[in-house]
Amino acid sequence: MNKLWNFINGEFVPPQSEKYLESFNPATGKPHLLVSDSDERDVALAVDSAKTAFTDWSRTKAEERAKFLYRIADLIDERKVKLAEAESADQGKPVWLASQMDISRASHNFRFFAGTILHSHDRATRMDQTAFNYTSRKPLGVAGLISPWNLPLYLLTWKIAPAIAFGNTAVAKPSEFTSHTAYLLCEIFQEAELPNGVVNMIFGTGPRAGQALVTHPDVPLISFTGGTTTGRAIATAAAPMFKKLSLELGGKNPNIIFDDADLEEAVRMSIRSSFLNQGEICLCGSRLYVQRGIYNEFVEKFVAQAKALKVGDPREKDTFLGPLVSKDHLEKVESFLKHARDEGIQILAGGNLPKLSAELANGYFLEPTVFAGVKHVSRIQQEEIFGPVVSITPFDTDEEAIEMANGVTYGLSATVWTKSLQRAHTVAEELHAGTVWVNTWLMRDLRLPFGGVKASGLGREGQEESFEFFTEAKTICIKHG
Ligand code: NDP
Repeated sequence: MNKLWNFINGEFVPPQSEKYLESFNPATGKPHLLVSDSDERDVALAVDSAKTAFTDWSRTKAEERAKFLYRIADLIDERKVKLAEAESADQGKPVWLASQMDISRASHNFRFFAGTILHSHDRATRMDQTAFNYTSRKPLGVAGLISPWNLPLYLLTWKIAPAIAFGNTAVAKPSEFTSHTAYLLCEIFQEAELPNGVVNMIFGTGPRAGQALVTHPDVPLISFTGGTTTGRAIATAAAPMFKKLSLELGGKNPNIIFDDADLEEAVRMSIRSSFLNQGEICLCGSRLYVQRGIYNEFVEKFVAQAKALKVGDPREKDTFLGPLVSKDHLEKVESFLKHARDEGIQILAGGNLPKLSAELANGYFLEPTVFAGVKHVSRIQQEEIFGPVVSITPFDTDEEAIEMANGVTYGLSATVWTKSLQRAHTVAEELHAGTVWVNTWLMRDLRLPFGGVKASGLGREGQEESFEFFTEAKTICIKHG
C-alpha cells in the first residue's frame, strides 16, 4: 500500500514516529493508503523549514511569486483526471463532481491569487495640510493551515494559495481521512520548482499534528476550516498566544421557497443543494421551508426526484451520490435517523442503506433522505448532520419563514426562491447568514467576502479579506514641514 510521507523542505520524508494511519476507500470500506501519523516533532521540522524559507520568499517580487502560482495552476489542470480519481477514491464523491468542482476550483484558487497580488495596493490618506498617512502591509511569517475532508483539495488550496501569494510560507495539515490529493499537490510543487520550504505538508490526526501546529509559538496565524466544536477548541488554544485566527465552521442552512418561485427550478436546484457531495458541503441547504400554497406540489416533485437519484459507484458518470466519507461519519448520520424514528418523524424518502453490488457492499452509502413534520426544537432541525438528510417544513408568512430560518445557532448561508425583487431584498437583509443566494445556490465570486456568522465562524475570506488576513498592516504618519 502506498505510504504518504510528509512534505518538508521540498522533500518527502517519513514521520518521526514511523507510524501510519490506514486511510479507507469509502466506496469499498477497504484500506487503500497509509498516511503518516505525524506528531509535534514533524510539525517542528516543518515550521523550521517554513521559517527559513520565509526570509527569501517574503522578499521575492510579487510578479515572481505569481509565476509560481500560475505554474502550479497549470499543472493541476494537466493532472485533472488523476487528481479527480484520487479525490473520489479518498472522499467518496463521484469522479465527475471531483473534476468539475474540486479540481477545477483548486487551479482557479492559485490563478485567482496570482492575479490578486499583481493588483493589490496599500492605502494612503492626507490630513488637510498637516500630515500624510499610508499603510505598509507585510506577510506575517509561517501560516498554519488546517482543512477538512469534505472538499479536500478545494479548501486546502483556498488557504495555501493566498498564504503564499502574499509572501508567507505555510505548514498545512489536511484531514487524515483525505490526504491523497494534498500529497499529489506536493508533487506538483516539486515539479513547479516552488522553492523548498515555502509549503510544507504534515499528514496525521487533528489532536496530534493539528494541535501541535495550532500551539507552535512560531506560527502566528491559523486558518482553519472544519466543524464548530473543533473550531472552538482551536480558538481556545490559540487565543492566549494572540494568534491571528480565521475560522470557517459548520452550517445548518435554510432554503426558503416562496409560493411565487419558479417551482421547477427551485426543485431542481434544491435537489442539488440538498444532496450534492452526499450533503457533505458546509453550504448545503438542509432545512427546506416551503410556503403553504405550493407545499404539496413541491414535496411531491422533490421527493420523486430525490428517490430517482442514483446512489452507487463513484466512478460511474450517472452516479449522483457516492458513499459518505467514513464508517464513523455514516454511523453519526445514522444516529440522527434513529433519533428521527424515535421522535416519530415522517420519512418521505430514503432513510436506509442501499443494497449495492458485492464490491460496494461494505461501502458507507446512504439513500438521500427527506423528513417532514420535524419540530423546530428537534436535534434534526438544530444540529448539523452533514449528510444526505434534509427536512421540509411548511410556512405561511415571510416573517414566520425568517424566524424559523434564523432560529439556530449557525449562520453560514441561506437560499431564497422568489420572483419578487422586493421580497428578495427584504428577506435577504433579515437572514442571519454570511451568504444569501437568491434563485441560485453555490455561486461564488471569489472577490467578495465569504464566511459565517454566529457559530459558523469568525472572519471572512475573499480578495480583500484574505489580503488583510495574510498580511499585517502598519500605518506610517508623516507630518508636513
Ligand atoms: P473537523 O473539525 O473534524 O476537522 C477539520 C480539520 O481539523 C481536520 O484536518 C482535523 O484533523 C483537524 N482537527 C481536528 N481536531 C483538531 C485539533 N484539536 N487541533 C487542530 N486541528 C484539529 O471537521 P471535518 O473534517 O469533519 O469537516 C466537516 C466540517 O467542516 C463540517 O462541520 C462542515 O460544515 C465544516 N466545513 C465548513 C466550511 C466553511 O467554509 N464554513 C467548508 C467546509 C466544511 P483530522 O480530521 O485529521 O483529525
